[in-house]
Amino acid sequence: MTRRKIVAGNWKMNGSLESVVELVQGIQTYATLDVVVAPSFVYLPVVSNMVRDTDIKVAAQNASEQAKGAYTGEVSLSMLQDFSVSHVILGHSERRSLYGETDAQVAQKVAATLAAGLTPILCIGETLEQREAGITLDVCQRQIDAVLDVIGTEEFAKVVVAYEPVWAIGTGKSATSEQAQEVHKGIRDHIAKRSETVAQVVAILYGGSVKASNSAELFAQADIDGALVGGASLDVQEFNSIIESAK
Ligand code: PEP
Repeated sequence: MTRRKIVAGNWKMNGSLESVVELVQGIQTYATLDVVVAPSFVYLPVVSNMVRDTDIKVAAQNASEQAKGAYTGEVSLSMLQDFSVSHVILGHSERRSLYGETDAQVAQKVAATLAAGLTPILCIGETLEQREAGITLDVCQRQIDAVLDVIGTEEFAKVVVAYEPVWAIGTGKSATSEQAQEVHKGIRDHIAKRSETVAQVVAILYGGSVKASNSAELFAQADIDGALVGGASLDVQEFNSIIESAK
């Protein structure tokens, strides 16, 4: 089955108003794939406005699982809807490790995002210690099951999974295409135990030091449906080359 490729740029807490505008102006799109950018919350209004007549889609880097109320510093899904956000990155390893987000909380966020009609980009992945202990797939399966158990198998078809080995994020040390494909296949096989149809539909992106020099090889793998790109998405030429290699 051919799944539509997705290339998403996670800009994290980087950029300025000026650099974000410049980046968006330079991004190229192709009819054959989805290009998604995830600026900081404060730049969402500007970016959403800029991409209105383009094929670029906009993601938030997080969202609250709560609808509204006394949650200082949080941003709700309905607020994101006001700015035509289509995707929400959830459970990024930085959110899990630095802000203590648990599997259960990430599952609630995914459920709330789907209920709002937005697409969750669910980040999963193992630490170096877990890889060396040989429990990479167990960790990924646990993170996926936490979400599956809350939203149900059918709804999982609307989730985009981003497999991001923690040891490869921002380190310049990408997983090899073989290592990545092995885990992507393991994730898809795991979902297939619940539903073969859902497993075939779900897009599984790879993230972790993706750059122009390794993206084509990663995208050539049967179960790699695109990438979640951090550092390289801040350089418009580099990001465009990654996008081009997915078309
Ligand atoms: C990320 O943070 O999602 C990521 C993949 O970062 P990088 O590409 O910089 O490793």
